[in-house]
Amino acid sequence: MPTYEYACPKCGHAFEHFQSMRDAPLTRCPKCRKLGVKRLVGSGAGLIFKGSGFYITDYKKSKAPEKTGGETAPAAKPDQPAKPAAPVAAK
Ligand SMILES: [Zn+2]
Repeated sequence: MPTYEYACPKCGHAFEHFQSMRDAPLTRCPKCRKLGVKRLVGSGAGLIFKGSGFYITDYKKSKAPEKTGGETAPAAKPDQPAKPAAPVAAK
């Protein structure tokens, strides 16, 4: 009897279930008790839901150049760190 891998898209719970091929696939998540678990066919199906697998692309809070009116930017850069100049700039 094969072991089937299941993943619940609702709560991200992934588990294996040992069952006969003739058995109906599971539909209910044993963790959150909701329907809709997906059986992962084959190994390495690449369809694995992980609980915290959703990555949100971080938007860097880029300081958008605001229209402050001036055509040329003032020479002063207030965002420069006021530390001694490091000869080796990390790139
Ligand atoms: Zn679940």
